Amino acid sequence: VTTHDSPEIARAAEALAALTARCASRGWMPATSGNAAARRADGLLWVTASGRDKTSLTARDLVAVDLEGTPLAGQTATPSAETLLHAQLARLLPRVGASVHVHTVPVTVLSRITAGEVLVLEGYELAKAFAGVTTHEARLELPLVPNSQDVRAMAAHVEPYLVRSQPPVAYLIRGHGAYVWGRDVAECERHAEALDFLLTCELWASGRR
Ligand SMILES: [Zn+2]
Repeated sequence: VTTHDSPEIARAAEALAALTARCASRGWMPATSGNAAARRADGLLWVTASGRDKTSLTARDLVAVDLEGTPLAGQTATPSAETLLHAQLARLLPRVGASVHVHTVPVTVLSRITAGEVLVLEGYELAKAFAGVTTHEARLELPLVPNSQDVRAMAAHVEPYLVRSQPPVAYLIRGHGAYVWGRDVAECERHAEALDFLLTCELWASGRR
């Protein structure tokens, strides 16, 4: 694919490789799991290819997809199975320039033991790491999505939350992982780090650590 040699994909690959390498080194993408996406200059997406080692991505490990998650013509690699969920974020949240999907221990455990439709985070100073949050008194509600091998079912479950005037900062899939996003790769990583910190606090508080 000729676009694989363009400066744009080189920059995107570098940014996504740095993001996924740091996530992987923290143990958030075990056993080649996890994936990430970044907005292309044309508004569409680069997503990471399925099953690659996230510590060493190159431009060859990125796939260009439209906002329905369908690969553009000429792509040689297979996009991640969860591409549709990245595409949904880019489609419904115009401000989003990057998203990452992680399989962390706090997300996996808390999403299994928390009852109800949302996991609530309240009273945390670090909530201010999320764009638009200005006080520890903010109440963050993270949707808890039932896990499914049907990615479309998960997309349909979370869609009503994403179209709200105040969409969540992230969402959790039960027993599986989280999606978190930002206006660019740097903000996305800050949000992922804040999410991990806050959910680690919740896990300690739950006595299940
Ligand atoms: Zn996953």
